[in-house]
Amino acid sequence: MTGPSHRLHRHLISIEDLDRDAIERILDRAESFDEVQGREIKKVPALRGRTVVNLFYEASTRTSSSFELAAKRLSADVVSIRSTGSSVEKGESLKDTVQTLSAYDPAAIVIRSPHVGAAQLVAGWTPAAVINAGDGKHEHPTQALLDLYTIRSKKGAIAGLHVVIIGDVLFSRVARSNIFGLLKLGARVTLVGPSTLVPRVFEKLGVTVSHKLDEVLPTADVVNLLRIQHERQRKEYFPGIGEYIRLFGLTKERGKKLKPDCLIMHPGPINRGVEIDSDLADGAQSVILDQVTNGLAIRMAVLYLCGGIATP
Ligand code: ASP
Repeated sequence: MTGPSHRLHRHLISIEDLDRDAIERILDRAESFDEVQGREIKKVPALRGRTVVNLFYEASTRTSSSFELAAKRLSADVVSIRSTGSSVEKGESLKDTVQTLSAYDPAAIVIRSPHVGAAQLVAGWTPAAVINAGDGKHEHPTQALLDLYTIRSKKGAIAGLHVVIIGDVLFSRVARSNIFGLLKLGARVTLVGPSTLVPRVFEKLGVTVSHKLDEVLPTADVVNLLRIQHERQRKEYFPGIGEYIRLFGLTKERGKKLKPDCLIMHPGPINRGVEIDSDLADGAQSVILDQVTNGLAIRMAVLYLCGGIATP
């Protein structure tokens, strides 16, 4: 996050850009907004009179609803636009769309796009703060922040934990943002999956790569399951779903190898019976719905820090 001094931060494009202090500052701010969720009236006036534009060019349930609700709970006026049903279908370019919406003088534009680098481009076309809600396979910073927040609130601290990320790392923006965030906060990270989706080259980031899930599971403090990103793969990267489940699925049987206090995470949407069995997704170790709840506090914090007028 960089930018003029009247705001605490300017844009949120990637976790790779943030240092440890900036990440912790967002998590701490989210903690203060978490308290608002427990109130009867779940609204604060932090962005009253300001406008937030949500621009979603790709499918979304959790992220779009969470950003919309977060902006509303901060008392902002919210405009939410999806590519379907908007002038994007008539061929309007991203630049024209952003410049049109910027005419309303929004404090922040939240953008999800199938294209890597889209949020960075948008930041060059608008005076608003730009928040990346997922750009292709590049990054999904608020997902990583809510994952870090969930781990910190359940485990007390992140430093020293062993976090195992399982599945389609190659095409997953969630994995990329999580890897940067976890390493910056001092966790040990192991990536597990077929060599086509988890190539050894990832070790250059400072993580361990393994293709043997059963060996890794017993030492995990947290496991984070990823969905196979079929929409980003142009050819098959694994022999078949059956083979994938046999080697990398978190089945009920495999779940017995986990430490009793190991957290089970998934960014959603879940393919039940593929990357994880329903018994585990809905079981006592799962924090999947906590992740959704925490997403709201994180997005309130990010909108506040990027789009609010902060006191120096
Ligand atoms: N919801 C996450 C994302 O938008 C994860 C996924 O789609 O698998 O990247």
